[in-house]
Amino acid sequence: MSTQDRPHRPPAAAYVSTRGASPAVPISQAIAAGLAPDGGLYVPTQLPALDPAAFDPHGSLADTAATLLAPFFAGDALAGELPAICAEALAFEAPLRTLPAPADAMLLELFHGPTSAFKDFGARFLAACLRRLPRADTRPLTILVATSGDTGAAVAAAFHRQPNLRVAILYPDGLVSPRQAHQLGCFGDNVQALRVAGRFDDCQRMVKAALNDSALQAEVPLSSANSISLGRLLPQMSYYAHAALGWWREHGTALNVIVPTGNLGNAMACLWVRAMGLPIGEVELACNANATLPDYFAGADYAPREAIATIANAMDVGAPSNFERLRWTFPDQAQLRRLLHAHSVDDATIRQTIGRHAREHGEVLCPHTATAMHRLDQLRAAGSRLPWAVVATAHPAKFESVVEPLVGHPLAVPAALAAMLARPAVAEPMAAQDGALRQWLRQLD
Ligand SMILES: *Cc1c(COP(=O)(O)O)cnc(C)c1O
Repeated sequence: MSTQDRPHRPPAAAYVSTRGASPAVPISQAIAAGLAPDGGLYVPTQLPALDPAAFDPHGSLADTAATLLAPFFAGDALAGELPAICAEALAFEAPLRTLPAPADAMLLELFHGPTSAFKDFGARFLAACLRRLPRADTRPLTILVATSGDTGAAVAAAFHRQPNLRVAILYPDGLVSPRQAHQLGCFGDNVQALRVAGRFDDCQRMVKAALNDSALQAEVPLSSANSISLGRLLPQMSYYAHAALGWWREHGTALNVIVPTGNLGNAMACLWVRAMGLPIGEVELACNANATLPDYFAGADYAPREAIATIANAMDVGAPSNFERLRWTFPDQAQLRRLLHAHSVDDATIRQTIGRHAREHGEVLCPHTATAMHRLDQLRAAGSRLPWAVVATAHPAKFESVVEPLVGHPLAVPAALAAMLARPAVAEPMAAQDGALRQWLRQLD
């Protein structure tokens, strides 16, 4: 990206909609709004160019994040708070771990947060921002979130007991793993779980209908925490920058990355880090049997479709919500298809990969991570000698009903997850109707 016409002092960052019909706003407003008023996704008017030498080589993940995100917050009310927001939200590590075997494999472990999946990074950053944003309204703000599992738990954990904020989580009853359901219902206080008699799409539709209902909003102030929020996307860039800079300082080469992908939020963050000039090399998307992106990258027209259920359920997405951001970032389709590749992995292959890596290498993978590991196996078989990092998006113990039978032994549960499982869990049943959520929201005290 050209830096020639950049002034010496960074200009105030501004955010516009991918659909081009919303006024430019500062980052605070983009984060508070979630979706742009024209229905598009907020994007920065330009991605800043970053110099790898500007980062403290001894800094923590939070330090890297504060340096990386400073130009995105330039001129904003939250700019002065950014280091504190990063320190509070990114208080756990994202290690790049070299595996003893197979040779030349690395795992970028993103599951050391409170709910054992990478959604913790984005949810905690969003909560830390929203908590600091001044609001004219003194009534509590209710955050609505539709989840197929991991997002809801991360948002619940991040917003639990935050003053003047409430969370309502909608999830499809019976379609999340038992441990995921327990995590969603175990918080209480200002966090309520609603088990909807329907599918994830119903939950998402009910949330959108509530957010678009101005009469309801006048009675009950509402916001959302879904994956299209910049407040979740931007902090996800931190772990890619941190890992790639560490690798580059030690080896002088770029780090290549394989990202298990559903809505493209995690991969979009990685691609922005590369576009800003940090040392990321190849990026590969590993998808489950939902092949919208693999088909597109194989040359077909973009064709969103209904999601199908797989054992990597957090990636069961047929219409990736960040695709609009991807096209905004890379408007030239031919260039985009050269810069990025996507492959689909079916359930049988995910199972085989989990079983084989446990048997041969003693490494237990979650089903999502296994899609990316399978892609690495393919790349190595095809002769790739590049340093590849497989992104590990969740701890395998979150998906014990899939993983334990394949590896043949019970999995140790991370301490934070164990503490949640030890608490009682409660979820209210709800019909899969927009009116049911409206009525429930109006009854909140
Ligand atoms: C959400 C999630 C994904 C998919 O991430 P996207 O940003 O939607 O592409 C992959 N793995 C796990 C464990 C997840 O929770």
